[in-house]
Amino acid sequence: MSVLTKAIVENSVVVSAIESKDIVNRAIKVHSLSPVAAAAMGRALTMAALMGKEFKNKNDYLTVIIDGNGPLGKITVCADGAGHVKGDIVNPVAETVVKPDGHLDVGGAVGKDGTLTVIKDIGLKQPYVGTSRLVSGEIAQDFAYYFADSEQQPCGVTLGVGLNRKRCKSAGGVWVQILPNCPEDILNRVETIMYAMDEMSYQFDGSTAEQVIRRFFGEFDLNFTESVDVSYKCNCNKRKINRIVRSLGKEEAMSIVEEMGQIEVCCHFCGKKYIYDREETEKLFR
Ligand SMILES: [Zn+2]
Repeated sequence: MSVLTKAIVENSVVVSAIESKDIVNRAIKVHSLSPVAAAAMGRALTMAALMGKEFKNKNDYLTVIIDGNGPLGKITVCADGAGHVKGDIVNPVAETVVKPDGHLDVGGAVGKDGTLTVIKDIGLKQPYVGTSRLVSGEIAQDFAYYFADSEQQPCGVTLGVGLNRKRCKSAGGVWVQILPNCPEDILNRVETIMYAMDEMSYQFDGSTAEQVIRRFFGEFDLNFTESVDVSYKCNCNKRKINRIVRSLGKEEAMSIVEEMGQIEVCCHFCGKKYIYDREETEKLFR
């Protein structure tokens, strides 16, 4: 289980942090991710978890699409207001390239010739849609730029995924949001700390989100407001898949059954298989 913790710094900065190793390992298992895919998707899922905590209601829903035209293809991550995240990636086995400094080339694999799009559905008539261009494909920088550009929200984002062969050994992220009333001196000190926030996967190795917040912001007056569990969990169900199969139309659906013996629908987000034999397919169109 991953734990997300939130604290208010000096009544003028909101710091959210999450230790996300379990989420990343679940994604690696579901999608058989290559190391660079695990790093990219892990960072995106970590940020989705932090953003999902902003929601007031359990059913509020967030989708982030990162489309940088790189070898990984489009990355989609989702979060709800109840502490669940999930993700999908077009090419989970993209080749892993290591940069001369020893880090995985996540930016090169994601690509930066494209956009980051955020869709927030909070039960209004129309969902909120915001989009910005990608700046590096390294994910954290791209989110920070998105918030500044599309939501006029100055903030800092750091995300890290540490891997050991095909497993995630530590992962986490910190999101620092500056409130409008933040005094100049606090802002300057927080910015200095944010510049020093590096190698996030090491910071979360053996440390909880609260410990990481205390490590960086311990010099301030901290008010811890929340600590919640977040996990990788898909919300697919038979009813939703029924709708997809019905959308094929009776003729198309029955011709698949003729040819293949059954209809098999596999959920992209969790890998769960839904099987429709002849009888069940006919029932859908009755
Ligand atoms: Zn699913």
